Amino acid sequence: MSEGQVMKVMTPRTSDDAWLRACAGWTELLGPEQVLTDPDQRRAAQTATFATDQRVPVILRPATRAEVQGCLRVATACGVALYPSSRGCNWGLGSRVPVEDRCGVLDLGRMNRIVDFCEDMGTLTIEPGVTFEQVVEFLDQQGSRYFFNITGSSPWSSPLANALERGDGVGPYGDRVAHTCGLEVVLPDGRVVHTGMSRFDRAATATLHRWGVGPSLDGLFAQSNLGVVTRMTFWLKPRPGVLQIARFRVDDPAGLAPLIDAMRQLRLEGTLGAGAGIWNDFRAFSARGLFPWEHQTPPLTREDLGALMPEGGAWFGLTTLYSAHIKQAEGNAARLHEVLGPVTDTLAVAFQTQGSEEIRDLLLEGSPSTLAPFGDVSTAFAMMSGRPSVASQRSMYWRKRDATPGFQSPERDRCGVIWACPLIPLHGPQVAEASRIVEQLISAHGFEPLFSWVVQHERVAYFIILLIYDRDVEGDDARAMACHDAILDACIARGWIPWRLGIHSMDALPEGRGDTDALVRELKQLLDPSGVLAPGRYIGG
Ligand SMILES: Cc1cc2nc3c(=O)[nH]c(=O)nc-3n(C[C@H](O)[C@H](O)[C@H](O)COP(=O)(O)OP(=O)(O)OC[C@H]3O[C@@H](n4cnc5c(N)ncnc54)[C@H](O)[C@@H]3O)c2cc1C
Repeated sequence: MSEGQVMKVMTPRTSDDAWLRACAGWTELLGPEQVLTDPDQRRAAQTATFATDQRVPVILRPATRAEVQGCLRVATACGVALYPSSRGCNWGLGSRVPVEDRCGVLDLGRMNRIVDFCEDMGTLTIEPGVTFEQVVEFLDQQGSRYFFNITGSSPWSSPLANALERGDGVGPYGDRVAHTCGLEVVLPDGRVVHTGMSRFDRAATATLHRWGVGPSLDGLFAQSNLGVVTRMTFWLKPRPGVLQIARFRVDDPAGLAPLIDAMRQLRLEGTLGAGAGIWNDFRAFSARGLFPWEHQTPPLTREDLGALMPEGGAWFGLTTLYSAHIKQAEGNAARLHEVLGPVTDTLAVAFQTQGSEEIRDLLLEGSPSTLAPFGDVSTAFAMMSGRPSVASQRSMYWRKRDATPGFQSPERDRCGVIWACPLIPLHGPQVAEASRIVEQLISAHGFEPLFSWVVQHERVAYFIILLIYDRDVEGDDARAMACHDAILDACIARGWIPWRLGIHSMDALPEGRGDTDALVRELKQLLDPSGVLAPGRYIGG
């Protein structure tokens, strides 16, 4: 780093001298080619899918745990901050951009080893830079009977980082972090801890059991800034004997509440073991392609949508059933029909038996033509069998006029994407109320209400709200963020606290009760007294 570059990153807390000393230390540790200060590379790391002004002075690319320890020791010694990034695909939530200004990015992409795999027990231990695609290819090469659930995000995103963000996947074990154990974590001062049974040298259950014995530490390192996770074990599910995809559609907008209550029943009784997604009509339409520029100008109104979707439909749902035996699968389909039939207008269950390409589609209610918004059912089968795809990345380009083929680089292509993620009881009337409030707010700000409900748990629903815009349209960055803030304010006022935050919403939470926030801050102070690791990420100063 030159003197000139250092001057730009100087802060009262981190002087240019501190950064110079840190860069010298990192260069000695990693070699100059892994300490990136090139302005273009730094600019890319500073760019998210919404407006940011944080500056990234340097990008470090360690390849081993020892190098991560060294990077953090140098940071602590010099009092400069680092922000971890595994693959940097945290689109709509901040990408690689740190929460606070003047943090170096600790890019863990080179730590991409699959460390351990056990076919008997269905466990996989990986480093942060391993991608979803890499896991799928690895399991294929092993001829494994297991599969790994994927997300709607990029094939090149990181399962480990996704778990740390408490991200959600499609299929069984969709609540990803709940099915992990044995974390290896580097603390801000460079010390290393191992969680659960993996803390013992010869533990036979290190990769098999979450809690270990005594206090459980795993939870401290998800959605936090207390350590850099360098290893994690994931549990895998066997490929099902029969995979079923149920698609359903509700035509009356008021039909959401009974549908949600029926989903709760199916989850609680165990018929549904995997997540379900329910899209509103705007989201279903946007998933098919880009904004219909040839017919309309933004924002698309409900009237416009009616003309574009003459077949109608208010809510579109999809869920998956994984069965070992065809008799089980048939029983599940019958039960689904019993519970969902009365609250849906169209319901179809498609079956695929393992090892066969053939898909048997069973229509239980309504007319098959109304299932068109779900697209090709074989694409859904690929995804639900754990085949990652770039298909849903296209939604980030919804408002772009000149969508770049490939849809790979939303930051470079100036796609505007902001997520808001309130957590709502899985209770029909509240879900319906939240949908109404949010649709009104989004429409009032001049965007299309693109949202969905993810039923990943038995008692709560993830409200997945997507603000999509074109960053090249003047004023839209500010308008979209104002809309996001209004949504979170309205939801929090109603008691619907977000379950996941982005760098744009880290300060959105209300004060915690009692001494809870103080305790968390004391933990941060204890583990990271100089505040060098991801300041502002979930835990404030
Ligand atoms: C169209 C679209 C669809 C999406 N679908 C989904 C979905 O289905 N499910 C879902 O969960 N998300 C989804 N996302 C959001 C996001 O893209 C994914 O969560 C993605 O996995 C995050 O990127 P990443 O894995 O590269 O993590 P990163 O960007 O590398 O990291 C995410 C966060 O974790 C922290 N972190 C990373 N690595 C470490 C580490 N080793 N130690 C400590 N902290 C670390 C980082 O500081 C960062 O804040 C979607 C986004 C879009 C735009």
